[in-house]
Amino acid sequence: MTFSKQTSLLHSKHKTDPANGAVSVPIQHASTFDQPDIDDFGRYDYARGGNPTREALEDIIADLENGTHGFAFASGMAAISTTVMLLSKGDHLVITDDVYGGTFRLTTKVLHRQGIDHTFVDMTDPQAVRAAIKPNTKMIYMETPSNPTMKVTPIKEIVAIAEEHNCLTALDNTFLTPVLQRPLDLGVDIVVHSATKFIGGHSDVVAGLVVVKDEELAAEIGFLQNCFGAILGPQDSWLIMRGLKTLHTRMTVSSNAAAILADWLKTRPEVKKVYYPGLPEHPGHDINEAQAEGAGAVLSFELENKEAVRSVVQAVELPVFAVSLGAVESILSYPPTMSHAAMDDEERAERGITDGLLRLSVGLENTDDLIADLTQAFEKIRAGEGVE
Ligand SMILES: *Cc1c(COP(=O)(O)O)cnc(C)c1O
Repeated sequence: MTFSKQTSLLHSKHKTDPANGAVSVPIQHASTFDQPDIDDFGRYDYARGGNPTREALEDIIADLENGTHGFAFASGMAAISTTVMLLSKGDHLVITDDVYGGTFRLTTKVLHRQGIDHTFVDMTDPQAVRAAIKPNTKMIYMETPSNPTMKVTPIKEIVAIAEEHNCLTALDNTFLTPVLQRPLDLGVDIVVHSATKFIGGHSDVVAGLVVVKDEELAAEIGFLQNCFGAILGPQDSWLIMRGLKTLHTRMTVSSNAAAILADWLKTRPEVKKVYYPGLPEHPGHDINEAQAEGAGAVLSFELENKEAVRSVVQAVELPVFAVSLGAVESILSYPPTMSHAAMDDEERAERGITDGLLRLSVGLENTDDLIADLTQAFEKIRAGEGVE
């Protein structure tokens, strides 16, 4: 029988250990494995190339994304860096202009230096993507919904353009996770994740994942994973597997709360604008609804100015004010000095990242409590409290 993702998360093929029935994947610390003979190697030889705990996680994420091969890395950036190593000197990358700050830095500061050229495009506009393609374009890199203004890329349309031009597609699926969006089913070649966020879910591990379904591509990524060596350790692999067990439940509860909060934020006089793809007036609403099973648990909203932001950040009691998202506790962050600090003022302005913008990743708190907390914090803006 095949079961829903919700059920499969709990009943994967790694549900019990065949050795003794343990209902948790054992953490295998060995860095090397005893071999039967000089020309007869066992299933594992050296743990950079393969480790049973990491492999269990790699199997689980591959199944969840409807891929065939998963790869676990020491961070989301290690996963992304390894993926772009598929490119060679002289290649060109078309990449979404509101890509995650670390990916922006990698593209502009590192790839560029290695002779890999790039063009940033508004990935919501297929014509702009088509226009950016060059004869040497080898990869189109998407992130949807994007950070922090939650722009939605029409995945199938971009995949069709990539196919016409024979280039690979990669998609950062961190915000929606395979519970809500499965890009491989829409024709994307490579899915990348910061598993530090929703997949881990508890703000206690840094990790990255890659999933593909094509055998040849899997062999190339596996080769690069072993070459580059930025693998996820067994302890952290286990933590990610534990996080995955509740991923469906967490995404459901947090996304429902985010939708309620987005509606509520729209009613507040202190809020100039709300960015959430679940809102019918969001420009990407229909596309997101067609290609994903939900709008996720992250939203952004714009206050009057930086002073208003400072006042709210000082006054809120529930959300932690931190760099990150996708955890059991709500996380409030300030993109201009946090996720998008790698961009200069002009680059931020072009992307709508104003000084009044706050991003909220909704956790598992009671929604009424979050609303009450934000209400008292917003009231302090008007009172001018909290502003030094
Ligand atoms: C955090 C994040 C990354 C980077 O992942 P790390 O685990 O921090 O290295 C990449 N993409 C998105 C969308 C992220 O939010």
